[in-house]
Amino acid sequence: MSIKIALDAGHGKNTAGKRFLEALDPKETREWERNSIEAEAVEKKLLERYENIEILRVDDRTGKKDISRPERCKRANEWGADIYISFHHNAVSPSSHTMVNGVKCFSGGGTVVYVCKGLDKNGTTRTMQRDLYEKLIKHTGLKGNRSNPYGQANFDVLVLTDMTALLIENGFMDSYYDVPIILSNEFVEQTSEAIVEFIANNFDVKLKKIVETTYKVRKSWEDSKGQKGSFVILQNAIAEAQKYGYNVYDNTGKLIWEYQPEKEEEPKAETPSVEPTTEPENAVEDIPTVEEQPEKEKMTIAKALKNLLKLILEWINK
Ligand SMILES: [Zn+2]
Repeated sequence: MSIKIALDAGHGKNTAGKRFLEALDPKETREWERNSIEAEAVEKKLLERYENIEILRVDDRTGKKDISRPERCKRANEWGADIYISFHHNAVSPSSHTMVNGVKCFSGGGTVVYVCKGLDKNGTTRTMQRDLYEKLIKHTGLKGNRSNPYGQANFDVLVLTDMTALLIENGFMDSYYDVPIILSNEFVEQTSEAIVEFIANNFDVKLKKIVETTYKVRKSWEDSKGQKGSFVILQNAIAEAQKYGYNVYDNTGKLIWEYQPEKEEEPKAETPSVEPTTEPENAVEDIPTVEEQPEKEKMTIAKALKNLLKLILEWINK
């Protein structure tokens, strides 16, 4: 069963007012941009790591449209989301701004995780709220001076959603202390890592199996029957391929290393006592080859034994 996660990067890019304080961020970055970057990082990590995750972005990914809050909730409800996470960044009323190091702004800061007031959906919402907050603080350290970081409010997205819904106010866009932190890439990385950890802690996620690249030694990709071995280490595959004059392919069939007949010394290797009567230049060239050969053979045997041992160990451990 898939775990369905609805992600809501609050607002739209051009929603009035929702932006960073100009005195602290001359670019006046829009709140949606940061909400969206965090939501995208969470989505990417979850899909990369787990095989049973589905994601629905209930806002407009391009930021052009500010999808109404009831519409976002409707999308999540109809889709049957297991959890709804709304991303925001906070601000206080400008009347609360004071001078901090010569800048008129908010002197406080910190992350708050909100849940629906007076309604503990599924009986797990409050526990999840605490867990999400703890994971965020563990990774970002953005504790700030919030006296109660466990908010309860009648925000639409918390009330109108059928599933457990959490709304993150991830630092203040008008805080002298928070702004440089929450505009950093590092913060996005930490926030997304925290949320992924939260999901893994509360839902039955299944880790993706890592597909290891193996290197196949074959005459051609189609000739699977004539394969001379499959190797994890490319150098070992090349050594084997050189022995037979075969090519090396990865497990998708891509040619990784091609046998070059003119450079090969294989026939001479089999008959080390090569014609001493050939022209002097050739004879000179042949000498190192002949000397190298026993060492090369030893290496090949050693590698073959190593692979055999690995197979035996794998078989025993089955
Ligand atoms: Zn917001």
